[in-house]
Amino acid sequence: CGIVGYVGQRSAVDVVIDGLRRLEYRGYDSAGVALVFDAPGEGDPVMEIEKKAGKLANLEAVLDGIDRPVAHCGIGHTRWATHGVPSDRNAHPHVSADGKIALIHNGIIENFSQLRGELESGGVEFLSETDTEVAAHLLGREYAACGNLTEAMTRVCARLEGAFTLLAVAADDPDTVVGARRNSPLVVGVGEGEYFLASDVAAFIAYTTEAIELGQDQIVTISRDGIAISGFDGKPSEGNPFSVDWDI
Ligand code: GLU
Repeated sequence: CGIVGYVGQRSAVDVVIDGLRRLEYRGYDSAGVALVFDAPGEGDPVMEIEKKAGKLANLEAVLDGIDRPVAHCGIGHTRWATHGVPSDRNAHPHVSADGKIALIHNGIIENFSQLRGELESGGVEFLSETDTEVAAHLLGREYAACGNLTEAMTRVCARLEGAFTLLAVAADDPDTVVGARRNSPLVVGVGEGEYFLASDVAAFIAYTTEAIELGQDQIVTISRDGIAISGFDGKPSEGNPFSVDWDI
């Protein structure tokens, strides 16, 4: 029900948890994050996924119990279950079969059972009962084929029906978060050398008031040094820039 993504100089886990906290008013039953670490050394984590049913405090307790290097790239989700009970397993992020992609989703993928059947006949083993997990597996497959997160997301969106805001990260790319939206909101926060993605500006107004609203059927890619927006047709596109003038 809430979605946050971050790339920049700050600690991604702090920004993401803070953002999810500011979206708590929307209601949720579980929460989770994916963090991607810069240039990991031997034995260091590459990507970390933590997810927990219940309040954000449950997730924070898990996160607080682990020592980690600072990650500058991450995504976070609060879930309002539509397909599959609220549980640790069904909480987002969902991960592709090869473990390289983590994906979060707000909304409903209407044609998930057809896609799930197709993936299962191709040997993919599902770990959750969610509609979302099909998107994680499809994105993993496309990313393995083309090596570009934006291109892979474009190919996946062409196959999805319904309402979705999707954010994804790749374990081998600590400088990119890709987002996509159809019939569900997604806003970019523009800072200096940092970018935010969220379902609502409330998630990032503590850091920046410069924002870009995405249009229908758009894909956005953020990295530390820039942002690119395209349509589901793959063509370069633009969002709608605005300044948030709330008193905070
Ligand atoms: N349909 C997805 C699920 O049940 C996402 C729900 C949401 O918007 O949080 O996991």
